[in-house]
Amino acid sequence: MQTKFLKSVVEDLINKQATPIIDLLLGKKHVNEFSIAKKLDLTINQTRNILYRLSDYGLVSFIRKKDKRKGWYIYFWTLNVHQSLSFLEGNLKKHLKNLKEQLKSRKEKRFYICDTCSIEVSEESALLNDFSCPECEEIYELSSSANLTKSLEKTIKKIEKEIVFVSEERKKEHEKLEKKKAKEIKKIEADKKEKRDAKRKANKIARDKLAKKMGVTKKVAKKKGKKKVKKGKKKVAKKSPPKGKKKVAKKVKTKKKK
Ligand SMILES: [Zn+2]
Repeated sequence: MQTKFLKSVVEDLINKQATPIIDLLLGKKHVNEFSIAKKLDLTINQTRNILYRLSDYGLVSFIRKKDKRKGWYIYFWTLNVHQSLSFLEGNLKKHLKNLKEQLKSRKEKRFYICDTCSIEVSEESALLNDFSCPECEEIYELSSSANLTKSLEKTIKKIEKEIVFVSEERKKEHEKLEKKKAKEIKKIEADKKEKRDAKRKANKIARDKLAKKMGVTKKVAKKKGKKKVKKGKKKVAKKSPPKGKKKVAKKVKTKKKK
């Protein structure tokens, strides 16, 4: 069923002969354009023209690889099912709108017909021609729209059903794409985390190594620093307290001892 609809897209855009391209692309990925040409019994240029036209609408996409021996690029094509169904859904909706307008005008307006020429005209143009056919001068008769109305109503029902089906299929494809995307994002995140962890680990090792080295030099630096500080303190101690006060302090201490 999906195949049938996808083929109708290709038929609309290109022609009926091109429709087997759906069989060649559906459910596959990166299909070599030469194999498509061979299976469609078309030249490579004809095949590319079809594919380019479809890609204009985003219905197919490609990757290309350089042929190392021949030096040119070979294109590998993938059908974008979601995009194709979405395109078809849009077309069907336009078609449906058109048919509904036709039906409405059939129900609301009168049409006239020349039985001799089998030409039907709107009431406005019948009026312009004084209700006689400009081709054969036969008097127009009021056209019975009953048959046409019935057939329009039938087609509208059919198209409405098709829209429901295509829309459901499109939603399914959309979900598939979303799942795929989520999976890809998850993988990217996992890769990032792995890289981050590896970097962190490498950094830690480097830091530990450095710390070991620095640890040795720090201890040396600390010892030197302490000596300097002690020297400084001594100097300060010698200089700052006035002699009188020191003596007083000593006296106080001695008094307390007694
Ligand atoms: Zn006529």
